[in-house]
Amino acid sequence: MTSIVVRDASAIIPFAGSGPLRAAEMSSTEIVEHSSLLIADGRVAGIGAPEVADVEFDATGCTVIPGFVDPHTHLPFVGWRGDEDAARLAGRHYRDLHREEGGIYRSARLLGDAQDDEVLAFSATLAAGMLAAGTTTFETKSGYGLSIASELRQLRIAARLTALVPQTVVSTCLAAHAVPKGKSEGEWIGEVAQELLPVTAAEGLASACDIYVESIAFALDHAARLSETARSLGLRMRMHADQLEDSQAGAFAARWGFATADHLNHTSLEAVEDLAAADTVAVLLPGATFTLRQNKKPLARNLIESEAIVALGTDLNPGTSPIHSMPFVIALACRIYGLRPIEALAASTVNAAYALGVGDGIGRLAPGGRGDAAILDMKSFDEIAYRPDHNPVLAVLCGGELAHVAPDARHRVAS
Ligand SMILES: [Zn+2]
Repeated sequence: MTSIVVRDASAIIPFAGSGPLRAAEMSSTEIVEHSSLLIADGRVAGIGAPEVADVEFDATGCTVIPGFVDPHTHLPFVGWRGDEDAARLAGRHYRDLHREEGGIYRSARLLGDAQDDEVLAFSATLAAGMLAAGTTTFETKSGYGLSIASELRQLRIAARLTALVPQTVVSTCLAAHAVPKGKSEGEWIGEVAQELLPVTAAEGLASACDIYVESIAFALDHAARLSETARSLGLRMRMHADQLEDSQAGAFAARWGFATADHLNHTSLEAVEDLAAADTVAVLLPGATFTLRQNKKPLARNLIESEAIVALGTDLNPGTSPIHSMPFVIALACRIYGLRPIEALAASTVNAAYALGVGDGIGRLAPGGRGDAAILDMKSFDEIAYRPDHNPVLAVLCGGELAHVAPDARHRVAS
């Protein structure tokens, strides 16, 4: 395997230490100035004086960070739903579009009508765009199947995507996304628990089970039912919580020891205390807040200051967050959720890796960790939110290989 030296960077942000970062730990991390990063045999070898390597990247004037980890996407899917967005901009509500069988039901029809290869090609193009924006690890989910066979098909397409892309991919079963037509919520949850999750776990098609708790979807007793089965099968438990209303879902996820509680727009101050006391990662998704023009935002500062583990993700999906760039999500998190740039970086690397259960070895530039890094065209990460439509990523190292170089950075590579 190749060795790569990223030399003479203005700043390297390694996030030394171990475990997820809480409160002031997110912003007090050491930034190494005027140094070089060495990657060898797919792993981080060290930070210090530039050494001789097979490939050199001149990082003068640049900031080097761990590759972004996107802990919440709805890949693989196929097709956009721009007309629904236009309807929302004209005053329709997402809930009504969902009830009229747009939304998730529409994406399920698009998935059902497409060939596997078509879904794979559509999703791989998005994964390539994510790589060019610095994402070296991302989540995939099912949830557009709405039958046992179609959910398994979507999970198998996710496995093919995993084999195709250079990134690390972590898969989740979100069969409890919408209630299939002709079934009650309880019937579908029973089928998922008895038929789908055992096959998913046995075939290694996912490492987590997710549920959408909302008045248009599932209730907390369904989450309890799935949690019991998921635990017995060794699957981690996640929840889409309190996105459109306060369902007490964030507090429930924390008290039941879920791995993550995602969205949290309507989560109360009391529930913030439950999350702060737990190891449940609060995964914030400002792309959905932005797309849905939600006035109600998560209590992000309270979450951080009360020591909850906070992560950021794109929520990439064709309905409520057609956004795949972590730099853009970070800019949104700073602008509309009130995060500081360095907190948003900790939330998009170290903590996002813990949200996916891969925090040991991914999310930091620590010796022995996976050789994933992004090289940004800025002297300080503090500039990240300043130009939100600019992709600052000049190059990406993924698994120890130079996986992406922007056209205007090719002169910086020597081998
Ligand atoms: Zn989602």
